[in-house]
Amino acid sequence: PRAPRLALEASGLVRHFGGLRAVDGVSLTVPPGEVTAVIGPNGAGKSTLFHCLAGAQRPDEGRIRLGDRDITRLPDHRRARLGMARTFQVVSVFPSLSVADNLRVGAENHAGASATARLLGLPDPARGRTREAVEQALASVDLTELRDVPCGQLPTGTLRLVELARALAAGPSVLLLDEPASGLDDAETARMRALLRRLADEGLAVLLVEHDMELVFGVSDTVYVMAAGRVVASGPPAQVREDAAARAAYLDPVTGT
Ligand code: ADP
Ligand code: MG
Repeated sequence: PRAPRLALEASGLVRHFGGLRAVDGVSLTVPPGEVTAVIGPNGAGKSTLFHCLAGAQRPDEGRIRLGDRDITRLPDHRRARLGMARTFQVVSVFPSLSVADNLRVGAENHAGASATARLLGLPDPARGRTREAVEQALASVDLTELRDVPCGQLPTGTLRLVELARALAAGPSVLLLDEPASGLDDAETARMRALLRRLADEGLAVLLVEHDMELVFGVSDTVYVMAAGRVVASGPPAQVREDAAARAAYLDPVTGT
């Protein structure tokens, strides 16, 4: 509702490291209102693909579009301004800051002008908006009660939610999640699954790269299976589960997880 409904779309992405094609011609669509997942064994190229989509790495070939805008060459902070938000595989909150202050950092990064206004001592029109976005994001992941607790005192499962909330505080239309269930127990994973579903139902385009099959198959509308840099299968979870190429990718005795 807050953000425009935009699809993230990649076509023919290639990213190589020397002679290795880590991502080797990948096309995918992350539509609004849906959860899209990328799975695959270690070394398949999931993280490299994720970094290209998030703007942390530049693809050597191919195009990335957000809505009808070509963002292939835009750095990550420009993508953030256009409504893309991401989380990190390793939780990256500021341990000495409270939950709410960690979210404020995310929201202000997005507001952009406010940091400059603050430096110059000018009245900051984004201030009220930021506070509101932070409170909304806290409420949406049910963390309001922990708003003043320093993040260093919280367990990993809760920090994953803080990270998600920080991404949400920027009011994104596209949410990129790198292994959101890593380090979560079963109850926390179930909670994460329900949250991701709700965010997609609210209109966000959600992409996750994830090892936890239960989460992926339980929440996704579309699953892409990668192996050796390529998409070897894609479709609804029920279909991918039965797909011979998808199964082969996971049964590989050398690289299977
Ligand atoms: P996944 O996330 O699916 O485990 P990655 O995208 O991390 O896969 O890695 C894909 C391949 O690219 C692997 O063979 C990995 O060793 C290689 N690779 C990833 N990042 C780099 C890098 N910065 N330099 C060289 N090789 C890399
Ligand atoms: Mg990875």
